[in-house]
Amino acid sequence: MDIILFFMFALGAIIGSFLNVCIVRFPQEKSVVFPGSHCGHCGVSIAWHDNVPLLSWLILKGRCRRCKARISFRYWLVEFLTALVFVGFYQKYGLSPVLGPYLVMACCFMVATFVDFAHRIIPDQVSVGGMFAGIVLSVLVPQLHPVSPMEAMLGGFMAGLMVLICLVLMLIYPVFCRHLMEEQDPSEDRGGKILVLSSLLVIAGINAGIAYLPPSIATRVLSLSAALSGYIVGGGLILAMGLFGDIVFKKESMGGGDVKLMAMTGAFLGWKLAMAAFFLAPFFGAVYGIIEKIRTKDSTIAYGPFLVLGSLVSLLWGEQIIRWVLNGGLAL
Ligand SMILES: [Zn+2]
Repeated sequence: MDIILFFMFALGAIIGSFLNVCIVRFPQEKSVVFPGSHCGHCGVSIAWHDNVPLLSWLILKGRCRRCKARISFRYWLVEFLTALVFVGFYQKYGLSPVLGPYLVMACCFMVATFVDFAHRIIPDQVSVGGMFAGIVLSVLVPQLHPVSPMEAMLGGFMAGLMVLICLVLMLIYPVFCRHLMEEQDPSEDRGGKILVLSSLLVIAGINAGIAYLPPSIATRVLSLSAALSGYIVGGGLILAMGLFGDIVFKKESMGGGDVKLMAMTGAFLGWKLAMAAFFLAPFFGAVYGIIEKIRTKDSTIAYGPFLVLGSLVSLLWGEQIIRWVLNGGLAL
């Protein structure tokens, strides 16, 4: 058996154990470092030998050693899924430079998914944090976006188009959604808009100046440009869909958390795969939505997990899916 495979599984389980802490504490605005792990019921500190990923939960049969309170199966599930993701990504990418960045993204996805299911929010620590991680990693690991100057230019164009679409929707928004605007805090998300517009200027600048850069720097700068384009297109798609939904259905339809989540995805995957993820997500969401609607008669579902699912499928098979669609697959 491949020793690295086993190592990746163990590493995934250990990191999954930390992600569990993030999933519980991010929504409560608590530190993920202090205090150490303790039972949520009786408060007793958990000894290291009762905190071994995957094994301890099974040995203790999902109960606290002292007070016997139930420990959620979710803890075990997150550790197991993270271990699987680490193994799967290693199988697909080997020890290539993109493995690290993709695992960072997957960890953000894991936390976003489970917090969104439980609380209907996506914590900024993973969406905004992941967004900046994606942009910084695109410079450090230019293999993330191996684009030609022409492709970078096209990405910049798509980002510009996306901003234009969002601006038009924002302009007509007050005409249709006055009642919604009165409920909203006007200062909300202003930082996000400034970030989007400034990154658009950066993309334009990069693409104008790329010809004058030596090739060694140019690959990093092109990768940065592609990450920024992906960030704007990914976030812009959800923002535009949300505005459009508000205008058509006259009620709040998309959360700001989803916008940031897809902006993060775009920064890691680039605009094409982010777009593929955006179109794939509703298929997963629809299946779950129908089941939930029958089960709870509540049609509002957490959308983040389906964006995550769409993003993962897009990362693994997005290129093939895009080629299939472009070749007229839908016409068949
Ligand atoms: Zn206890």
